Amino acid sequence: MIIDCHTHWSMDQWPQNKPDPETWWDVPGRHGIDHAIVLPLAALTDDTKLQLENDRIHQVCRESNGRMIPFCSVKPSQGDPAVAELQRCTGKFHTRGIKIHPWLQGTCVNTSHMDRICEVAGDSGIPLLFHDGTPCVSLPSQIGLLARRHPKTTMILGHLGLMEHWREAISVMRKESNIWGCLCGPHVAAIKEILQRCDRSRLLWGSDYGFGNVDPIDYRLDLLKIQNLKHGDMEKILDHNPKRLLSL
Ligand SMILES: [Zn+2]
Repeated sequence: MIIDCHTHWSMDQWPQNKPDPETWWDVPGRHGIDHAIVLPLAALTDDTKLQLENDRIHQVCRESNGRMIPFCSVKPSQGDPAVAELQRCTGKFHTRGIKIHPWLQGTCVNTSHMDRICEVAGDSGIPLLFHDGTPCVSLPSQIGLLARRHPKTTMILGHLGLMEHWREAISVMRKESNIWGCLCGPHVAAIKEILQRCDRSRLLWGSDYGFGNVDPIDYRLDLLKIQNLKHGDMEKILDHNPKRLLSL
């Protein structure tokens, strides 16, 4: 089984703004993907779309026969309204996780507002997936410090440092046992080193499908396949680890 742990569904990009799992799933289905974690997109750059996009993501995932797994988003710096929106998504939709994009959302992670979101996530038993790898507010080390302050909350580096900060991501994963990493961004040599130095039972794979108009799934899967991992390790990253993360 292949579980893609980093995709996006955007209320701005799909026909007539309607949730349509069949059209969205054409590409992952063609590549043999079985499930996908689906993250918001339009709401990350426009706060006024947060509630509506959270509503629609949960609707489109509900209509996908269990293939699409919804994560909500909130803007932590909003304070009380952010906590209320998170509680609405956990209560009404049983959301499976939270996406935070500090850079696009203009939010610093080392703030009391972010601490409150981490506490609610920890109490609800759902992970936080961060965009990471982009200065100056989305660095793996900043998320690492947050993880240290909230040891009961699971946090995911959504890009494992991207092209420039993957060494920092390795260091953070080695220090903080509640940090997981998604292989979605680093180049082939970086992935090799990540696989050698990080706990493979906390590694995930993702494509970023839904962000932009290209189909990145083959390329990102090949970056992993050419590492010549043992079958058991491939199964861990593509299947067993995400199931453990999400209690599937
Ligand atoms: Zn993304």
